[in-house]
Amino acid sequence: MIETDIVVIGSGAAGLTAAITACKLGLEALVVEKTGHFGGTTAYSGGAPWIPCNHVMKQIGLDDSREAADRYLRAVLGEAYREELVQQYLDNAPRMLQFLESNSQVRFKPFPLPDYESELPGAARCRSLLTPEFDGRLLGKRLAELRQPLPQLMLFGSMQIEGADIHPMRHALKTWAGFKHTAKVMRRFVLDKLRYGRGTRLVNGNALAARLFHSAIEAGVTLWKNTPALELVIENGAVRGVVVEQDGKRVTVKARRGVLLATGGFGANEKMRAKYIPTPEHHYSLQPEGNVGDGIRIGLAAGAVHDPVHAGDCIWTPVSVLRKPDGSIVKYPHIFIDRAMPGCIVVDPGGKRFVNEGASYQTFVGTMHQRGLTTVHLIANRDFLRKYGLGLARPAPFSERAYVESGYLIEAATLAELAARIGVDARQLETTVRRFNEGALRGEDLEFGKGADAHSKFRGDQTHQPNPSLGPIGDGPYYAVALHPGDLSTVGGLDTNGSAQVLAADGTPIQGLYAAGLDMNSMMRGRYPGGGSSIGPAMTFGYIAARHMAPGTVRADQHELEVAA
Ligand SMILES: Cc1cc2nc3c(=O)[nH]c(=O)nc-3n(C[C@H](O)[C@H](O)[C@H](O)COP(=O)(O)OP(=O)(O)OC[C@H]3O[C@@H](n4cnc5c(N)ncnc54)[C@H](O)[C@@H]3O)c2cc1C
Repeated sequence: MIETDIVVIGSGAAGLTAAITACKLGLEALVVEKTGHFGGTTAYSGGAPWIPCNHVMKQIGLDDSREAADRYLRAVLGEAYREELVQQYLDNAPRMLQFLESNSQVRFKPFPLPDYESELPGAARCRSLLTPEFDGRLLGKRLAELRQPLPQLMLFGSMQIEGADIHPMRHALKTWAGFKHTAKVMRRFVLDKLRYGRGTRLVNGNALAARLFHSAIEAGVTLWKNTPALELVIENGAVRGVVVEQDGKRVTVKARRGVLLATGGFGANEKMRAKYIPTPEHHYSLQPEGNVGDGIRIGLAAGAVHDPVHAGDCIWTPVSVLRKPDGSIVKYPHIFIDRAMPGCIVVDPGGKRFVNEGASYQTFVGTMHQRGLTTVHLIANRDFLRKYGLGLARPAPFSERAYVESGYLIEAATLAELAARIGVDARQLETTVRRFNEGALRGEDLEFGKGADAHSKFRGDQTHQPNPSLGPIGDGPYYAVALHPGDLSTVGGLDTNGSAQVLAADGTPIQGLYAAGLDMNSMMRGRYPGGGSSIGPAMTFGYIAARHMAPGTVRADQHELEVAA
């Protein structure tokens, strides 16, 4: 039998943060990862954690207070506010950040994104942070063990692009700064491709996963891939270890201090989606293949609780779908890039707008659910398509032809023709566009307030006047893309207390069992206060779990002193 201090099941943000923390506090940690790649959904993500009162925002002259953050969370969460979880989060999220910055390669940079409910009391900017790019070459051969981002979010197969690249790339042939930036990124990619066969400039969530993976290796974490956890070892009601599968054999690993479930929820499990998620037959998840709810299943067998009220909570996103001739599909999450820009609208099957197109992905799809909408259309003209792109169809100089031919992009010379092709009333669509254009010319959206709130304004094109996210839809040809509800990940895991201990039905902790990330019933309970409201808590409760398993170690005691000081 193999023995270690803690076993972490899953290698995303929650699991790797916990493992690094544990090792740095003097414990032995083993991470088991089911798939052949480390990083999970985290490696697909934007890599942004939402951390109130973070020290990073001071770099751009911003400040926050615990009191304001608490007020904001109370306003967003309403009756879903859970005192113990929120207080632990507010105490520990900034500490986790400082701990990782001092003890690992994990770094963050400021991003003045307004909170998503920017009109509520206590809202602030720059609680969402971004991960700086990471040089994948530092991982050497182990780079191949890191999950790559979704191919549909990269260029040329393996060139990773971050938010800060988008504006200069759109202006590569228009401004010197745009040309210089694009040339630098392209040059690096071409050299990487020749030498390594792929891009090695890692950005967004891939940079975060790489930083965590690299730090875990450096910290001495034992990392096993292709090793699914099967079940827990339970003795006298307490969790003492895990049975894993390696090379087709069952291997028992004893955990002296505890086991952390961090398997990343169940987005890739069709049966669980059908059971918990609204309109499952029209729903598309972006989660990787390994995220099928193992942590929830394993925890339930030990007496854990999967609260039916929150089991289906997700980070929602509108998704468009390309159907390939071989029957496979490509899913594109419209997180904000196109729909927040000036010169587009989204209409329901009645040909009417129904939402602020620049609203957060959570609000956008939440409104679709409320209205029972499973297919809506994002509409713009050719100028918009060439300037900003529409989903998978990239801006100029990329061609849209293949997407038109595959039926992904619906093209028409006039609005009436477009309306016929997407099955909405032509007169209604023309009226909707005329009404939208009248206000958009003045920079006003009297119907849904696009560009009036801090969030949708921030997500727009900052070079566009008078309102960065509002512009009229000009002459044809016109294009439409069908959008459906989808998720960036599920978030409704097992009930825990503020120390990330998994709770039994009577509310008492199951000794030795912890859950973090998507295996934990999110403290946000399905609400989404700001960009990063999943990764922030995932890392923080991973850190809390590791510290809870580490009391009495010399380094943990030292850490307590440092944190208190
Ligand atoms: C395109 C996209 C953008 C996103 N952007 C953001 C963002 O910027 N900010 C944010 O907060 N959220 C974002 N999200 C959501 C976010 O990525 C996830 O909520 C978060 O990363 C989950 O972290 P985790 O550690 O819980 O799980 P994961 O990162 O999914 O890791 C779980 C791991 O566990 C493994 N596993 C599963 N079962 C087993 C088993 N039985 N044994 C061993 N291993 C197992 C899985 O294979 C996986 O590798 C985004 C998601 C997507 C798809």
